[in-house]
Amino acid sequence: MKQGYIKTAEEIAIIRQGGKILAEVLKQLLSAAQAGVKTIELDLLAEKLIRQSGGLPAFKNYADSPSETPFPTTICASVNDQVVHTPAGDYALKSGDILSIDIGMKYPATDDGLYTDMAKTKAIGSVPQLTRKLLKVTAKSLELGIAQVKPGNTIGDISRAIQKYVEDNGFSIVRQLVGHGVGYAVHEDPRVPNFYDPVTANFKLEEGMVIAIEPMVNIGDYRIEVLDDDWTIVTSDGSLSAHFEHTVAVVKGGHKVLTAL
Ligand code: MG
Repeated sequence: MKQGYIKTAEEIAIIRQGGKILAEVLKQLLSAAQAGVKTIELDLLAEKLIRQSGGLPAFKNYADSPSETPFPTTICASVNDQVVHTPAGDYALKSGDILSIDIGMKYPATDDGLYTDMAKTKAIGSVPQLTRKLLKVTAKSLELGIAQVKPGNTIGDISRAIQKYVEDNGFSIVRQLVGHGVGYAVHEDPRVPNFYDPVTANFKLEEGMVIAIEPMVNIGDYRIEVLDDDWTIVTSDGSLSAHFEHTVAVVKGGHKVLTAL
């Protein structure tokens, strides 16, 4: 497998093709996500759409190390106080829930295929105003993070922009999980924290880098826990959590969102 921070223009063009497909798949999943629908039904639709498009699910069977339980499904379908990494299953959505779908794809489905990663949170039916604010603030914090992406800026510029906006709005940003490089693998260096972290703050962005920026925002405390399935992450205080993510390339003079429609 190839490694390195910098992707060629040709590689970025392929990641963009994959990202466009992935954005279309996620759009269809979100419109299918209605009260009464089980998350496993969304998962089956996701895998079908990805394979029909010539890609492969990136999360299904994913493990950080051979000793880890492989992730069982194509999408992460995290509801309410679930932050991320929830396997799809028999849970049936109900009005008042919020659902975060995180989805990754390898495209094309060959050994040298390239990876994209994105996420969005949707309200199912009607939700209280504070919940609507959580979704709006999280989506906007991603935009503000992306706006900092250009050659010469640092990862700290992204982190600071996201953290400030989220905290100014009275919410907290998850710290134990962070964004990441993406392309040759679904998770690559560098780490892209959504809060100011001195370890990565001075890392300079360069033309050709591709990163996934993914703020996870809680209404309450920033702390999180892993459930017994070894995957599902929940907020420690049970408060609601939202997640928005795009794969973004650093290009001359700025950035390009590769997972836009
Ligand atoms: Mg990611």
